Amino acid sequence: MLLEGKCALVTGSTSGIGLAIARLFAAEGAAVMINGFGDRDEIEAIRAELEQASGTTAIHDGADLGDAAAIDAMIARCTAEIGSPDILVNNAGIQFVSPIVDFPPEKWDAIIAINLTAVFHTTRLALPAMRARRWGRIINTASAHSLVASPNKSAYVAAKHGVAGFAKSVALETAQDGITVNCISPGYVWTGLVEAQIPDTMKARGLTRDQVINDVLLAAQPTKQFVTPEQVAAFALFLTRDEAAAITGANLSMDGGWTAQ
Ligand code: NAD
Repeated sequence: MLLEGKCALVTGSTSGIGLAIARLFAAEGAAVMINGFGDRDEIEAIRAELEQASGTTAIHDGADLGDAAAIDAMIARCTAEIGSPDILVNNAGIQFVSPIVDFPPEKWDAIIAINLTAVFHTTRLALPAMRARRWGRIINTASAHSLVASPNKSAYVAAKHGVAGFAKSVALETAQDGITVNCISPGYVWTGLVEAQIPDTMKARGLTRDQVINDVLLAAQPTKQFVTPEQVAAFALFLTRDEAAAITGANLSMDGGWTAQ
């Protein structure tokens, strides 16, 4: 198995893309710490499933990534219970859709904290142990919105552009340390995060649900297909391989051609 003996921390992995990544990494033998919110019993079922798949330990930490102290405690717990992360996947993210003049300042603060500042904290806390081992992989789930914009998503677009720039900077700082730092930038992936923004987009643009799906979401994606969480997970797994050691500081699109336009 590819990740036997490795420890992976995947933030925002109780659903969607993060869960697909955690599942694949566990299936490849990694000890995994998952993170995120949700129903307690459902999370425990996921944790047990991952542990069985990996043949090693899987733990869940419910740290709110908007809280720097909770991030600190999460990394410390990961290190104490399953080892410091060899692979850090910064995946947790939230969205809010609103015209800028109506954009609630507290939503701006939350998106910047969870989608951007948390990446700074997890990265700075995980790096020393990766450096000491001279091996590490940091994979950020950015977005097509780290490269291009859409209306009514100012905070999200700002945060994702920030993550892409941050990753480049850290990649340069760690280039000779056996560590790679990259972004995967999906187009629309069918997850709860996309589902949840449909009502707000319907309201903001005066559209029906089908119009939002076909004329707003998939309008941007030339393939007219949603990306799947499993496709993103497979790409993340590739980035952990030794063959991917030369890929660092990259913002890698998997967006059905969206940003080629
Ligand atoms: P999702 O809503 O299914 O998953 C988000 C995860 O983050 C969940 O586990 C949730 O509990 C967790 N989370 C949310 N707020 C948190 C907080 N404060 N602290 C800790 N965990 C928190 O969404 P998803 O679509 O799988 O999104 C995952 C990542 O992919 C996000 O960064 C998102 O911006 C990015 N992304 C998604 C799409 C898409 O179309 N779905 C496209 C591009 C990028």
